[in-house]
Amino acid sequence: MRRKLLLGNWKMNKLASEAKEFAIASRPLAELAKKNNIDLGVGPTYLSLATVKEFASKDMIVAAQNCHYKESGAYTGEVSIPMLKEFGIDWVIIGHSERRAYDNETNQKCHDKMAALFANKMVPVYCVGETLAEFEALKTKEVVGKQVREGLEGFTSEDVKDLVVAYEPVWSIGTGKNASSAIAQDICHFVRETLRDMFGKVADEIRVLYGGSVKPVNVKEYLSCPDVDGALVGGASLKIESYEELLRNIL
Ligand code: PEP
Repeated sequence: MRRKLLLGNWKMNKLASEAKEFAIASRPLAELAKKNNIDLGVGPTYLSLATVKEFASKDMIVAAQNCHYKESGAYTGEVSIPMLKEFGIDWVIIGHSERRAYDNETNQKCHDKMAALFANKMVPVYCVGETLAEFEALKTKEVVGKQVREGLEGFTSEDVKDLVVAYEPVWSIGTGKNASSAIAQDICHFVRETLRDMFGKVADEIRVLYGGSVKPVNVKEYLSCPDVDGALVGGASLKIESYEELLRNIL
């Protein structure tokens, strides 16, 4: 049975002081989520990870938004996996479409990062999704299938058992243009079947999320789809009131 997962992606938002305030306010929500068998988490910036880890409930998942695949070395501006682990961070968002678009995050780079994460027994949240032009050209499955296959090629079923995949159509991120729940179900199902083809029955344990303009008003509809195991949420995860509403609406 796959546990539901609600994960906020704060992107480049919140000062550490604001992150601390949110972390403290989120404590009862983490308890509520746990009681209802829901995993709850947020992805702060690097500079707020330690603060959120310190002030949020121990049950709150705290995810980094990126990592480097090398342990150390001459990579100015980067943060390595051992550096994250030292702060108790063991979840990392990989291949977010903003990083694919602005930071040349290719499927191969995602693969290298996930190899390092699996070697460290950490959990990648691997983001996949098509652009508007690809969606309009009916290429969604071609694009998403390639991202899943190239990103995860060569790993074992043991490696991927805790993996999370997030289907996030680029045209719906931060735009208020939602993919319908039928599209979310169709593509999340397609992701799961691709995972089944690659790794066998462990595909039934891997959580597949939908992301893209998820709000309190629509979160329940997405999570009612059989292959949508949760949501990756940007804008609506920033304010504690809206984050709380997201959670309460899926209890
Ligand atoms: C995201 O950042 O992954 C995201 C889905 O953003 P939003 O919910 O704002 O569309």
